[in-house]
Amino acid sequence: MASPQIIVHRGAWQESDLPQNSLAALQRAKEIGCVNVELDVHLTADNIVVVNHDHDFYGIPIETSSYMELCEKQHPNGENIPKLNEFLAFAKELDLYLFLEIKASAINTERSLQLTEQTLANVEQINLAPRIHYISFDASILEKVLLLEPSSVVSYLAGDLEPSQVAANGWQGIAYHQLVLRTHTAWIAQAHQLGLLINVWTVNDTENMHWFLQSGIDFITTDKPEQLQSIQKP
Ligand code: MG
Repeated sequence: MASPQIIVHRGAWQESDLPQNSLAALQRAKEIGCVNVELDVHLTADNIVVVNHDHDFYGIPIETSSYMELCEKQHPNGENIPKLNEFLAFAKELDLYLFLEIKASAINTERSLQLTEQTLANVEQINLAPRIHYISFDASILEKVLLLEPSSVVSYLAGDLEPSQVAANGWQGIAYHQLVLRTHTAWIAQAHQLGLLINVWTVNDTENMHWFLQSGIDFITTDKPEQLQSIQKP
């Protein structure tokens, strides 16, 4: 049984005291030997795809602000909110793989789908498609990804569908919360029998790290990659 690959959640930020979803956290992932990085994207009011977890950047609402307005605040390390295209270019330079979470718009589904379209266009422009695994809580976003680019790899985050339903939707994987997979342990074997990839989030404690390292899943998403590495390779 192969050991799961580590995915660094929002870059390697927590153990290095760097901002989440920053270029510095992306670079740090590379420095500690992690090739898989998770990130989150949103669409600004002037239709720029930006990398951030929350719907606001230090209090400035992303979806109703222009990119220039968002640049009135910086991360503590001095970085502006990254544009997706610069984030992708840096990931390419660093030779990384990205687990790209497309966040649903708080405004409407149309904006979610526009974000999806522009995200894929950014990926296409930089020729990075083979290194991207799309993830989302929103089924309509995953459907749009596959409609626009049928060769994409997509995983569903919400945890409310059995593996058979995910496979029937034509998606390639489940990326579920640790409590979901520890409650429905049979889903792990079922998902693999269906040819699905299995990813778990966000595993930050030693007990769950040990459990999921032995579970046979494909990926473990964590805020503590260095701790997980030390358990994986004692
Ligand atoms: Mg995320």
